[in-house]
Amino acid sequence: MDAKAQNVTVIDHPLVQHKLTLMRKRDTAVVQFRQLAREIALLLAYEVTRDLPTTTTPIDTPLAEMAAPTLAGKKLCLVSILRAGEGLLQGMLDLVPSARVGHIGIYRDPETLVAVEYYYKVPEDLQERLVVVVDPMLATGNSAVAAVSKLKEDGAQQIKFVCLLAAPEGIAQFQSVHPDVPILTAAIDKRLNDHGYIVPGLGDAGDRLYGTK
Ligand code: URA
Repeated sequence: MDAKAQNVTVIDHPLVQHKLTLMRKRDTAVVQFRQLAREIALLLAYEVTRDLPTTTTPIDTPLAEMAAPTLAGKKLCLVSILRAGEGLLQGMLDLVPSARVGHIGIYRDPETLVAVEYYYKVPEDLQERLVVVVDPMLATGNSAVAAVSKLKEDGAQQIKFVCLLAAPEGIAQFQSVHPDVPILTAAIDKRLNDHGYIVPGLGDAGDRLYGTK
């Protein structure tokens, strides 16, 4: 796949790649998995905020006045797709602690893999913010597509999607519906299996974050 043409950026920073490898390993414990997710999320937040608009503000340093760069306008809204999105949310908030946060509860029906929404709560001024949707796994793409569609209906105008791993099938599905929404991911894996899991992947991100299996 030509990632650039598909509006997909793979963050190939060595720290991201090393931490992702540790997360993939079967025997990585829950406590380490959770910490690694938080650390990678901070690095992904750095990349996804790279082109936030800036302005200048007059300030006094101990030595002189200067027009210093600051972020312009209303800033970020992070939207976590429950429950695995929570694993990335905290690391992003470590870097941008004043970001607003929304939550979308979506589960995928295990039989049909169709996305079913059960919870939605986001800030009212979405249209004034960069909305960053986070979910560790872009697998079939169904949850991500449903989340972004809902946010657009609600007025979001600038949206980016951040994940740890993406499957080619998920990217294709997402970009067929939301070609305007950039995807940032730490890796694009080979394929989906028959149960909608990413291969080689890292398993079920929610279970590995919370130790539920
Ligand atoms: N969700 C996960 O947690 N893992 C996958 O591989 C696919 C979807």
